[in-house]
Amino acid sequence: MELGLKNKVALVAASSRGLGKAVAWSLAREGAKLVICARNKKVLEETADEILMETGVTVFPLAIDLTDAERIDWLIRETLDLFGKVDILVTNAGGPPPGDFIELNENDWKKSIELTLMSVVRLTRAVIPAMKEQKWGRIIHMASASVKQPIQGLFLSNAIRPAVIGLTKSLSQELAPDQITVNAVCPGYFSTNRVKELLRNKAKQSKKSVEQIEKDLISQIPLGRMGNPEEFGYFVAFLASERAGYVTGTSFQIDGGFVKGLM
Ligand code: NAD
Repeated sequence: MELGLKNKVALVAASSRGLGKAVAWSLAREGAKLVICARNKKVLEETADEILMETGVTVFPLAIDLTDAERIDWLIRETLDLFGKVDILVTNAGGPPPGDFIELNENDWKKSIELTLMSVVRLTRAVIPAMKEQKWGRIIHMASASVKQPIQGLFLSNAIRPAVIGLTKSLSQELAPDQITVNAVCPGYFSTNRVKELLRNKAKQSKKSVEQIEKDLISQIPLGRMGNPEEFGYFVAFLASERAGYVTGTSFQIDGGFVKGLM
C-alpha cells in the first residue's frame, strides 16, 4: 500500500532513541521530511545522520528540552521556517519516573505534568494554526497502555496520561472540520532504554533478578514477547498517512494483547 507520505513534513518529538526514533525511521522510509528533537545534541545528530544516510530524506535535528515552553515555540517556528509547513506532529517525551503514591512529592508531580501533559499541550497548540491553514494535519499523541489498565508502581503515568487522552478526544472533535485527525497511541512493552530501566528498578525493589522480572512480565503478554520498536513505528506511519484519513479521536493500544479490557 502506498501511504502517501512522500514529501509530507513530520515533527517527531523525543526521537533520538526508543519509540520516537522508530517512528521517525518509519516516516522517513515512506519519504517524509523530518524534524527530530531531544535533549542530547550528540545522540540526536547521530540519529539524524543514520536516517539521512539510509533513506536520503531531509532530517533536521533540533536539540531541546520538552519541559521548556519557550523552546517548544522556537521548535515549531524553526520547523515552519525550514519547511514552510508541518503536516504531521507526533508528541512524545521521556516517561515519568516510577514510584508509589506515598513516595512522590510535590515536585515530582509538577515535573511530570510539565513533561507528560504540558509538552503535549504546547506542541499541539503551536502546530494547529499551520495545519488549519492548509486544511490537513495528523496529530498523534504518545500515551501508554497505562491509560487502559493502570500499571503497578507507575503512579505518575497512570494519573497524568489519561489527561492526554481527554485532550486527544476533545481536539479530534474540534479539528475535524479542518481535516486534521487527532489520535493517541498506547504502547504496552517495547524493548527500549525506558523499559530496561523500569525492569532494573523493579528488580531492585523486589530483590529478584532482572531476568526473572522480565520473564514474569512477558508471561502477561499473550504474544509472548516484548514489541520491537519498528512494529510501533509502522503503526504510527499508517496513522500519519493519507490512508488513515477517516480515523480520528481514537486511542490505540499496541501491546501484544497485554491490556485485558474490552475497549
Ligand atoms: P526512551 O527512554 O527509550 O526514549 C525517550 C526519548 O525521549 C529519548 O529520545 C530522550 O532523549 C527523549 N527525552 C526524554 N526526556 C526529554 C525531555 N525532557 N526533552 C526532550 N526529549 C526528552 O523511552 P521510550 O521507551 O521510547 O518511551 C517513549 C515514551 O513512551 C515515554 O513517555 C514512555 O513512558 C512511553 N511508553 C513507552 C513504553 C515502551 O514499551 N517503551 C510503554 C508505554 C509508554
